[in-house]
Amino acid sequence: MTLKKLMMVGICLSFFVVSSNAQEINKQIAYNKSTAESALEIITNNNHITAFEELYDTWENKRCHSKTEVVPNTYKIDLRKFSMPIEQSCITSNFGRRWNRNHNGVDIKAYHGDTIYSAFGGKVRVVKYDPNGYGNVIVIRHWNGLETVYGHLSKQIVKINEIVEAGQPIGLAGNTGRSTGTHLHFETRFCGIPINPIELFSFRNKDVTGDFYYWKKK
Ligand SMILES: [Zn+2]
Repeated sequence: MTLKKLMMVGICLSFFVVSSNAQEINKQIAYNKSTAESALEIITNNNHITAFEELYDTWENKRCHSKTEVVPNTYKIDLRKFSMPIEQSCITSNFGRRWNRNHNGVDIKAYHGDTIYSAFGGKVRVVKYDPNGYGNVIVIRHWNGLETVYGHLSKQIVKINEIVEAGQPIGLAGNTGRSTGTHLHFETRFCGIPINPIELFSFRNKDVTGDFYYWKKK
């Protein structure tokens, strides 16, 4: 082999080594990226367990709401996977001061027997009858850290401590308790503090107002 041919072979070999090294590096980058993405997915998927557990240290089934001892100053609440609590979307009474009392949720138009659905996945904390207030009521603590309250039901079809999915039927609309007509009284609470549901959801669009709600202590 001539010197020129030897040099050509050498150049080809070194090009092959460099290009296979580059392929290895690319493979490594792709692997690291997919590993990081998987890790992120795991963190995201487990996030709800963290929120559920880190915010609340008690689990009692009598009171519909109680403010937790420690309320974080800020918190990012994951609203994805929201499901409308009822098919209808007409708000008949807003959140806020009403008849010298606080109305801690919204009233949504309903017909007797309309199906009521869990707004998110979670665990049923309260199923009871409150004759002077909520009537037949269900409270669910969700994986994202929120609690939702469903009042004046004609029927409850879930049990305390039951795990529910977003969109799972939990009861039927009614007119029980302090109520002047069939509707769903729907509350969203964070660490026991009521949040106006329209800050979280656009009922008219049957959707969330954003993927995340950024809670700030007032
Ligand atoms: Zn109400």
